[in-house]
Amino acid sequence: MIRQATVAASFGMLALMIIMQGARGADARSKLPDPINAGVAERLYRLDCGHSLANDESVWTPGENVGRDIEFSSTCWLIKHGNDWLLWDTGVPESSLNDPRGWSTLPKLIVYHLDKSLTDQLAEIGLKPGDIGRVAISHTHGDHIGNMGLFPNSTIVMQQAEYSWIHSPNGPNDNVNQLMALARKLLGTPKNLQLIDGDTDLFGDGSVTLVSTPGHTPGHQSLLIHLRNSGFIILSGDVVHLEENFEKNIVPSLNTSKAESIASMDKVRLLMAAYKATLFINHDKSQTDALRLIPAFYD
Ligand SMILES: [Zn+2]
Repeated sequence: MIRQATVAASFGMLALMIIMQGARGADARSKLPDPINAGVAERLYRLDCGHSLANDESVWTPGENVGRDIEFSSTCWLIKHGNDWLLWDTGVPESSLNDPRGWSTLPKLIVYHLDKSLTDQLAEIGLKPGDIGRVAISHTHGDHIGNMGLFPNSTIVMQQAEYSWIHSPNGPNDNVNQLMALARKLLGTPKNLQLIDGDTDLFGDGSVTLVSTPGHTPGHQSLLIHLRNSGFIILSGDVVHLEENFEKNIVPSLNTSKAESIASMDKVRLLMAAYKATLFINHDKSQTDALRLIPAFYD
């Protein structure tokens, strides 16, 4: 028993060393927390930020499930740290609330529906959008930044690479170009913009770390949070869409880089080993439906 625990602990340390070493070249300022001494955030709330129906699962699982319908969840997360509130992603636009026609980022492929507004869900625990000091976004696809307009005074935290990408010239994939144009529209010009470069410790105590996981988009990121009772949890963003994709290393055709996507999934696996972390996959509806929903929370 003791030997097993020792082996597990040293594998965790090894995983952490591998990630740190990998970060040295690409990102000399990697700020991953110390698994033993990391601080904690008080609460993590899940918000229902929409659900969607796509008519061809193979876009996300190339070569498999051609022409098959798939339903995805859309999730936002709210973090309480001391007196600060941090929102992770803003979901499907509130303008589409209860609209039977739904809303779309790529009309031929996917339609989103919203049954609960972000504003109403914040109100369930006595908050207004103006109470949210910081909004961090995993990436700039419309279903993740649909409600930026609710947070004009919040500091918007995103990777510099993502910001530069959506303001760069169009590439060869028309779907991707459409998503970039929509991203510029939905993001607008935030008054308070914090552009970061690589892994970033948000509160300076190791409790909440934005982790660079490019590939789905060039500046995509995930979030590593440390809680007192739940331990470490990774919020995926779109580093992976489905549990099965994670197991089989499958990369959606809409991703901007297959190689980076696979490297980022590897990085998440190492993080899970190093921090004994649980992975919450944003769009995996069967996993998401089983998780606690605001006003319930993880602590
Ligand atoms: Zn996406």
